[in-house]
Amino acid sequence: TAGQMAEEFGTEAYVVGGFVRDILLTKPNFDLDLVVETDGIKFAKKLAKKMSGRAKYHRKFKTAVVILPDGQRVDVATARLEYYEYPAALPTVELSSIKMDLYRRDFTVNALAVHINPSSFGKLVDFFGAQRDLKDRTIRILHALSFVEDPTRIMRAIRFEQRFDFRIGGQTLNLIKNALKLNLFNKLSGYRIVHELKLILNEDAVPGSIKRMDELGVLEAIHPLLVLNSSREQVITELERVISWHSLLYLEPTISVWKTYFLGLCMGISKPKMEQIYNRFSFSQTEEREFVHLRETIFWAAGNIMNIREELKPSEIYTILHPVPLEGVLFIMARTKRDMIKKYISQYLTTLRLQTIDITGDDLKELGLIPGPQYAQLLFETKLACLDSLVKGKDEQLEFVKK
Ligand code: ATP
Repeated sequence: TAGQMAEEFGTEAYVVGGFVRDILLTKPNFDLDLVVETDGIKFAKKLAKKMSGRAKYHRKFKTAVVILPDGQRVDVATARLEYYEYPAALPTVELSSIKMDLYRRDFTVNALAVHINPSSFGKLVDFFGAQRDLKDRTIRILHALSFVEDPTRIMRAIRFEQRFDFRIGGQTLNLIKNALKLNLFNKLSGYRIVHELKLILNEDAVPGSIKRMDELGVLEAIHPLLVLNSSREQVITELERVISWHSLLYLEPTISVWKTYFLGLCMGISKPKMEQIYNRFSFSQTEEREFVHLRETIFWAAGNIMNIREELKPSEIYTILHPVPLEGVLFIMARTKRDMIKKYISQYLTTLRLQTIDITGDDLKELGLIPGPQYAQLLFETKLACLDSLVKGKDEQLEFVKK
């Protein structure tokens, strides 16, 4: 439909970016990005109407998102006809608008386009040697100032390199090293750094990316306190195993993977020094509070569970671990080297945490108890008794509460 519409508009439309890259790599990708050589907003409006979807606009950037009835999102961007100012003596180079659009992108492999007009449907547009780079498994930038223009591309290069098991090209690698020497990360906002870091820590190949960031000096550029040491490296490697084990259990709620790895990156940093990290990342008060809470509950629970010598009852395991958010529980599991503690944590995650009791606040009300904080305490103690099989069934639970 979009291709036909482009024909009617008397213009060209293309599918671009990651979608094209992933088709050539035979990997699934459901993010459809279109570029049209006309007003993208008008185009998106008409596309939404034709497809019975709706459109949202970003007028400043001449971009839009069309949301189709089945929920599929299609990004529509306008290939801008801008004139690139080249240094004086050089002749002005005339570029078609799709070429200009692709030239502004991060890496050759992300700068491919495919025609979708019916007359040229499926024709690949490759101005920068992307097909060769896909074959050679290389991440390469398009021009020497790319990282100066946008240093977050350094983190994107590592992310794609690790995701596809590619290699960052030699020249691109040198430009990364230069950019880091020039302290270009200093001018990046905390928001942009965290955004890219989250993307990296939510991918599949996290330990590889973290090691690569460390080796190239990216972690140090983000903040010197984040450089890798052997204990952080060990925990991060173990976290990968623990997180994939946990994801295979399909338990609710699912965890925030990036936060779990971030705990590993910050391991051993004191509370006051963490302030520097929160500031660098421009964390909101809520985000900061959440992390402080996470680290404090881990500290408390790890202190209790790591030194255990004798066997623990289910209620004791539950009492130690239940105040800790799930990300923290997985972190403790990755940090301990003792199989017994891993077993306790596994028991907590797979059974103790999920076990429910039969009585509720309504039952306590019926017993004539005045509602208040003691309700939670009574229900908690009932749960502990049930975990140790001291009481079974609703009647016994009610008796227990009465006592
Ligand atoms: P993913 O599979 O992770 O979604 P993607 O390639 O689709 O990868 P997006 O972040 O969705 O990545 O970006 C879409 C496209 O926009 C990219 O393919 C790339 O061409 C371009 N792009 C994104 N970020 C940048 C950037 N910082 N600099 C230049 N181009 C970028």
